[in-house]
Amino acid sequence: MWFLRPDCLSAFEDEEIRSSLSRYIEVVEGRKYPLFKLSKLVRVDLKDDPWEAHEEGLSILKEALGSGSMPRGDGGQVSLLDLKAYLSLEIAKNCRFCEWRCGVNRIEGERGVCRVRETRVSSHFIHMGEEPPVSPSGTIFFSGCNFRCLYCQNWDISQFPESGRSVTSQELAKMMDDLRRNGVRNVNLVGGEPTPNIHTIMISLRYASENFPVIWNSNMYLSEEGMKLLLGVVDLWLPDFKYWDDECARRLSGIANYSETVRRNLLLAYEFPPGEIIVRHLVLPNHVNCCTRPILEWIATNIPRALVNVMDQYRPEYRASEVPEVSRRPSHSELREAFETAERLKLRWRSVSR
Ligand code: SF4
Repeated sequence: MWFLRPDCLSAFEDEEIRSSLSRYIEVVEGRKYPLFKLSKLVRVDLKDDPWEAHEEGLSILKEALGSGSMPRGDGGQVSLLDLKAYLSLEIAKNCRFCEWRCGVNRIEGERGVCRVRETRVSSHFIHMGEEPPVSPSGTIFFSGCNFRCLYCQNWDISQFPESGRSVTSQELAKMMDDLRRNGVRNVNLVGGEPTPNIHTIMISLRYASENFPVIWNSNMYLSEEGMKLLLGVVDLWLPDFKYWDDECARRLSGIANYSETVRRNLLLAYEFPPGEIIVRHLVLPNHVNCCTRPILEWIATNIPRALVNVMDQYRPEYRASEVPEVSRRPSHSELREAFETAERLKLRWRSVSR
């Protein structure tokens, strides 16, 4: 038995949320089909280059979303979703789901930087603590991550890819369906990081029978190919945007070329309909000038319809005490500056920031 928080109950009446997440709300309420179900209907002919067929499938879906009609369900040898499943297995054999581009054969059990071998789920449950339009959320925590954030709050999941239990695509589909049948608004794919598991997820969606919006809750360090597989499947993006300065990303998360990668992926997510996004930015101590302010400015200029959760809950965890710059909570003046910047830039932030 669970009860909806009052702010979640009224979230869909909030004007800021309604104007940014209109299609997501319709899917939650059963008035529209989730994108993965529409991708099942789109049919395309196979070509020498399967990515060409994939582009054609995305165009058909985009056209249908633009006109409000159902996508073409006749002709064509395969569905767009089947094609995505096939392509994701091909990528997994020479893994480049994210910008590490390790090139290892994940199907044969080889491990790259994320050290994820098979897909493992640490836990899945009804999460009541996400943003008001997201909760109650059917959250599935995948074990392992391609980042090494020194202050990770989920380090017991993210840094231990062997934790949890191994799941097949069919089992994952059943988890998703069961969560939706228990009344959640969505299926929220998170971790650790969901990216190393794109192939398992893509195949599981072929088996899923319930209509639920898919949320991609991620560090957004995907490769361009990984991103393209998710277009037409993800209904609501829930990305972190942690750093503006690549040197901060390298020092605190062990990541190269962070900012450009995340910006590229946010634009891809925003430009493919419906382009509904809640960006999460965690305000770090000593990082307002180098990261918070330029990130918020970039969002205001480039993806102004996105909702932005300016998060104030940072606390030093895991190995944060080893790095003086992040070994304390952000000060009141740092948080005030972050909130005032969001307000000055007229970001859509109030309805989802807590
Ligand atoms: S998901 Fe990323 S880090 Fe993991 S093996 Fe693939 S390319 Fe490497």
